[in-house]
Amino acid sequence: PLMFFGTTNLDLCFNVERLPTPGESLMGSLKQNAGGKGANQAVAAARLGLRPSFYTRLGDDDAGRSLLQALREAGVRLDAIEVCPGEISGSALVLVGDDGSNMIVIDPGANANVTPSMVEKAAEFIERDAIVVAEMGMPVPALNHLFALKSVKEFDLIFNPAPVRAGLSPAAWRSVDFVTPNQTEAFELTGVEVHDFDGAAHAAGKLLDLGPKAALITLGAQGAYYADASATFALRAFPVKVVDTTAAGDAFNGAFAASLAHRLPIREAIKKALAVAALCVTRRGAQRSMPSSWAVDEFLNS
Ligand code: ADP
Repeated sequence: PLMFFGTTNLDLCFNVERLPTPGESLMGSLKQNAGGKGANQAVAAARLGLRPSFYTRLGDDDAGRSLLQALREAGVRLDAIEVCPGEISGSALVLVGDDGSNMIVIDPGANANVTPSMVEKAAEFIERDAIVVAEMGMPVPALNHLFALKSVKEFDLIFNPAPVRAGLSPAAWRSVDFVTPNQTEAFELTGVEVHDFDGAAHAAGKLLDLGPKAALITLGAQGAYYADASATFALRAFPVKVVDTTAAGDAFNGAFAASLAHRLPIREAIKKALAVAALCVTRRGAQRSMPSSWAVDEFLNS
């Protein structure tokens, strides 16, 4: 069993030749995509054939209805999701230039209003021996509460610290089984610059000092670095033609969690996550870029 906690956003993506300067108006083409880190991760796992539960808050609006529909179509279980009258769904304005550079503005909407007691209620959907995945878009008091539930419920906790914010308690850090930052987040958490696997090894040591049992740092096109108390190793990314790196980290986390839920050994789970994330960057969009298990098997066997 597998459960995700996190944000859902409607991404308003404008493709533009170049990013605008202040005061400037440009022409672009708009595409609306279902996004939000929590939702992207849950969809990545669902595409691999699992039926993960997901806790998120949506507004009672058109965006919320289309976001819910995207989750349903992907095969995510909707029972824990709250649709909130009088609130607006989270949204993101994303500008992407032809050179791949971007500018993003997020209105978290209903995502910003998650309280510890809401998390407590949603946690009823965590099944025995589940893998639970959280990201940092949820308010920090709610995260502290979720992590504290590990003392009364048995589950393995994957924490994607994105976007990094202050306030996670020392006890919460110690309840994390796998912390999964990208290079920027690893730097923000440790002060160690992660340019390569050597830097990742250094940062991973500092991450373990915070309390989690294992650190798994993603390094974009380079791959991923793993460290726990008894083992460290690096795995290279699969070389692919990049089209859009949106949600690469979410694909990685969703697939890593799904693989652990399938009881794959850690190294195998990371390899699968690297394959899913590689396929994700060959496609445009967030949730729509998550590959099916069929596509992943074909990629790994080719
Ligand atoms: P985030 O998307 O959170 O910034 P990363 O950039 O580290 O995270 O990417 C996450 C994972 O996505 C990487 O570990 C890798 O597996 C995959 N990935 C990202 N960019 C590429 C790329 N150019 N080629 C192949 N895989 C990639």
